[in-house]
Amino acid sequence: MQVFNNNPLECNTFLYISNNAALIVDAGSPADEVLIQLKEHNIKRVVLAYTHFHFDHIAYGQSYTAAITKLDIALTTIANKAEESFFGEAGSQYLTAALQNFNLTNYYPADKPPIINNFLTNNQPLDVDDFILLATPGHSIGSSCYYSKNHRILFSGDTIFNHGAVGRYDLPTSNIGQLKASIARLITLPDDTIVYPGHGSSYRLAEQKANFEHYLARN
Ligand SMILES: [Zn+2]
Repeated sequence: MQVFNNNPLECNTFLYISNNAALIVDAGSPADEVLIQLKEHNIKRVVLAYTHFHFDHIAYGQSYTAAITKLDIALTTIANKAEESFFGEAGSQYLTAALQNFNLTNYYPADKPPIINNFLTNNQPLDVDDFILLATPGHSIGSSCYYSKNHRILFSGDTIFNHGAVGRYDLPTSNIGQLKASIARLITLPDDTIVYPGHGSSYRLAEQKANFEHYLARN
C-alpha cells in the first residue's frame, strides 16, 4: 500500500496494486507521483474510486483521468450512486464554491469534479481483487468505504479515523444518525482489518474499536 498526501489538507490518496491492476482511492494529492508508480509496475488497468464528493478528495480527479488515459491504461472511475449529482458537469458548482469558501483556489487547480463512469450501490464489487463498496452515509449522503475481506483492508474515507475520531456531520448532506449507523456497521468487521482513513494514519481496527463503541454510547 502506498499513500500520497502532498496537499494542503493532507488528504490521503492510496495506491493498491494487484498484478497488472491498480486501485486508487481518492484524488486529493497531485497525480505525478502516482503515475510514476503505475509506469514502474506496468499497470494495465486502473480503478479510481472516490470515498465521497468533498473537494479535498476529488480536486485532482480530472488530472488523474487525463494522465491515465494518456498512458493508454484502461480506467474505470467509481463513486456512490447517491452522490451522482455532485460529480461531473453537474457537480462543478459545488467544487468551485467549496474551493472559494476555503480560499483554496490557488492551491487546487481543479474547477470541475471528475467524471464517473460507474456509480455503485452498497456491496457492489470494484473489480480489483475482492474489494466492494460499503455505503456508509453520514459524513455525506454517499460517503463510502472500500473493503477487501480477503486482504483485511478498509479504506474508510472521512467516516472513521485513527484515535477514535469520526467524520464531521455539520456539512451539507451530513446526518448524525446515519453516521452512527455506519460506524456501528464498520466496527463489526474483523479485528485484524487495517483501516486506511482519508486523513491521518492507518491502524488495526481492533485498536480503536473500544473508542468507537464509546463514541456510539455517548452520542
Ligand atoms: Zn469529507
